[in-house]
Amino acid sequence: MNGALPRPRAAPPGADAELRPVTALKGVGESLAQKLAKLGIESVQDLLFLLPLRYEDRTHVVPIGTLRAGERAVVEGEVQLAEVAFRRRRQLLVRIADGSGFLTLRFFYFSAQQQAQLTRGVRLRCYGEARRGTLGLEIVHPEYRRAEGEDAQRTEDSLTPVYPATEGVQQGRLRILTALALAEAERQSVRDWLPGELLRDLGLPPLAEALAYVHRPPPGADLAPLEAGRHPAQRRLAFEELLAHQLSLRLLRREIRADAAWPLAPAGTLAARLRASLPFALTGAQERALAEVMADLAAPSPMLRLVQGDVGSGKTVVAALAALAAVECGRQAVLMAPTELLAEQHAQNFERWLRPLGLPVALLTGRLTGRVRQAALDAIAAGNDVPVVVGTHALFQEGVRFGRLALAIIDEQHRFGVHQRMALREKGRADGRFPHQLIMTATPIPRTLAMTAYADLDVSVIDELPPGRTPVRTVVMAETRRDEVVARIEAACGAGRQAYWVCPLIEESEELDFQAAEATHRALAEALPKLRVGLAHGRLTPAKKEAVMAAFKRGALDLLVATTVIEVGVDVPNASLMVIENAERMGLAQLHQLRGRVGRGAAESSCVLLYRAPLSPLARERLEVMRTTNDGFEVSRRDLELRGPGELLGTRQTGLMQMKVAELVRDADLLPRVQQAAEVMLARHPDNIGPLLRRWIGARERYGKV
Ligand code: ADP
Ligand code: MG
Repeated sequence: MNGALPRPRAAPPGADAELRPVTALKGVGESLAQKLAKLGIESVQDLLFLLPLRYEDRTHVVPIGTLRAGERAVVEGEVQLAEVAFRRRRQLLVRIADGSGFLTLRFFYFSAQQQAQLTRGVRLRCYGEARRGTLGLEIVHPEYRRAEGEDAQRTEDSLTPVYPATEGVQQGRLRILTALALAEAERQSVRDWLPGELLRDLGLPPLAEALAYVHRPPPGADLAPLEAGRHPAQRRLAFEELLAHQLSLRLLRREIRADAAWPLAPAGTLAARLRASLPFALTGAQERALAEVMADLAAPSPMLRLVQGDVGSGKTVVAALAALAAVECGRQAVLMAPTELLAEQHAQNFERWLRPLGLPVALLTGRLTGRVRQAALDAIAAGNDVPVVVGTHALFQEGVRFGRLALAIIDEQHRFGVHQRMALREKGRADGRFPHQLIMTATPIPRTLAMTAYADLDVSVIDELPPGRTPVRTVVMAETRRDEVVARIEAACGAGRQAYWVCPLIEESEELDFQAAEATHRALAEALPKLRVGLAHGRLTPAKKEAVMAAFKRGALDLLVATTVIEVGVDVPNASLMVIENAERMGLAQLHQLRGRVGRGAAESSCVLLYRAPLSPLARERLEVMRTTNDGFEVSRRDLELRGPGELLGTRQTGLMQMKVAELVRDADLLPRVQQAAEVMLARHPDNIGPLLRRWIGARERYGKV
């Protein structure tokens, strides 16, 4: 790897104070430090960035007469009556009054000393949540103290923060610790790594101010924006965190871009021959994506490009044309798929397209063993005879060596992590050169999110489906109308079409999962005696599963009952009907992927979503999205709204989900400005980047490290 990267440097002056261990604070010993470590708090800085979950207003005393049930408040009053009562349980009831009204304090646990203290005439200051009880308003187990002398006047001078709890560290302790950290930060002036002009442009407060505000909001602070995470002080911190993530990905990208790759700038003879042999012309969107890929490939540094395209948008042929660029330049291309079935399907397509050009295609999956596998490995290592290799994870295994690899294509990115991509890059390393990377995904991601999650990648979008596809008609039906659906299947298959029936997903148990599939298979086979009904589920051996799928593909089966094993990539253009049972339990992305299995031919296709009542509001919303749109980007956008980005992207693949302050959906409007700020930081403030990354990403996995 080249050394050109601006690696985070040693901490500049001023950073040290924040990075001091918590034990540097007064009263923090080893045992407390250990408990804090469970909250992920090791340094003074970690304490500063431990943000309150919510706040309590103890800045003023509320007249009891104005107190409402559900309200948390400070009240003060004189004890009028205290008695131990037996209502199911022994309990101490204390009535206090302040002239505006009265309130009962209810204690189920109390000491003799407490009981002695709470006598008529004593003034008490209490805090707690009021609720309606049998005796009118009451507070169960309030925090309380006697209110006498000067103390009686005193209230808290800021809102009281409530921190995420950890075992053995009380809220009171956390408040003391954060106060100490804030005082220390103020004394040492906590370093703001965001340049002042940037903050002014954004209208966001400086760091010290933001931290002071979120830990100790002043009396009268509006709690609504604070509790919604929308206060400028919180947005300032979220912005900084998003920026740190963005910079981390940008640095990774720079690191990779600084490497050398084989420039692939072929005359295009092979590509022209493949195009001439295809029964179709590329769509405008395919052409655009391909042109972007070809421009990257011609450069002497590695391409890092993500091609996003809805199911069926034709990504595979774009991949094949890219592979030919490598081959024409005398190098190898590898295509990696997430499942054996998909790898085999890709291998078949590539065979069909490339064999006539005199180019053999090697398939390497986990299924290959012994001598056959060794022969394949030898050929791949030699390079000359095997210009194109298709495979699964097996491509990572030890012993796999590529002789002349210049392009790695990864299909269905969401199944692979960044780390696997990086591993493949290492595999392809030879003579100081690294392979170009082309990543293809059918999970379209809204633009701002893509820019954030894939800041290390360039993105091309295939936003057009090949012509002649009739959009899939989606209907939503209660499962009580099963008979109608069975009649539909009979009609479609009677007309020579094929159909899928996807069985419910029973998450807790694979066993139940396949039992349900078997039962459905039996029932459908019985109800449809004239049809040939097959069954595919996760319990079948890969060979059996493959045999069933192949039979369906050949047309030897009319109806395929399956669990979600058919989710990714199966291409059977004659299938025109898909029934999805218990659709209310599935996510939008999955439903959309499944639906993408039909509508691949010219025949009008439909998708029946069967649900079991009652529908939750979320499930109802999802089914409505499915019914009203076929557009993967729209589905994805709605999915993001409904579920949040964690599930959409898959948690393993980005570091985004472990953010401390920022939330991608809530803070999405900051993202474009985060991009711009990243440019400014890289160009004008490179020295601030290291400390910023240490603050937010710390020693946790950085993308740059493999
Ligand atoms: P996906 O983007 O989901 O991977 P595929 O690459 O599997 O889609 O393409 C789906 C189907 O569309 C395949 O049968 C493929 O041959 C066909 N196809 C691809 N591009 C075109 C095109 N421009 N015109 C017509 N059919 C196309
Ligand atoms: Mg595909």
